[in-house]
Amino acid sequence: MNTLTLKIIFTIGVVLSVIIRIPYQRETRKNIIIDDRKTPEEKITLLLIFVGMLLLPFSYVLSPWLNFANYHLPIWTNILGMLTFAIALWLFWRTHDDLGKNWSPTLQIREGHTLVKYGVYRVIRHPMYTSVLLWCIAQALLLPNWIAGLSGLVSFTIAYATRIDKEEQMLLEQFGDEYETYKQQTTRLVPYLF
Ligand code: SAH
Repeated sequence: MNTLTLKIIFTIGVVLSVIIRIPYQRETRKNIIIDDRKTPEEKITLLLIFVGMLLLPFSYVLSPWLNFANYHLPIWTNILGMLTFAIALWLFWRTHDDLGKNWSPTLQIREGHTLVKYGVYRVIRHPMYTSVLLWCIAQALLLPNWIAGLSGLVSFTIAYATRIDKEEQMLLEQFGDEYETYKQQTTRLVPYLF
């Protein structure tokens, strides 16, 4: 598939993700935060995600700077990338809908926070991170560039590894036995596997 088409498809995916998030982000504006764990490390994590999933891919989409790292991908990987991005966006939407006001970009607990265990949260505890992982896989399959294609996966892996235990610890402190039981009934990212 030609590079321009792939760049347009990737851009459409990113624009759709922004549109999906807008109404849910608005809903959380009035939240009163009772536990905020926005540490400097958390801020670095968010910056890393921004660089790997937006800054580098869009540098490649909009300018020739990264062209020295281009390579060729067969068409079937591009089609697989589109399918993966579509599933990622569907899951991104479902997780926002299930979490509702309990969503936050950093680790926080709001007044009246409830533990969501239904919908896509019934079998996995971190389906939003699954959707981000699928996005990063799609990015690698759609953008044939060593830097812009793989930066998402690298930044996600680092961000996930530094955040996941802290997030579960925060939820455990907030919900106690209810979260412990929920942990035993679910896996983190991939249903029934891990
Ligand atoms: N890790 C989750 C949510 C990401 S948004 C996922 O990947 O789907 C991050 C916020 O969601 C955290 O601040 C935490 O307070 C909240 N959160 C995570 N899991 C939750 C759950 N099961 N129920 C309610 N809130 C949850």
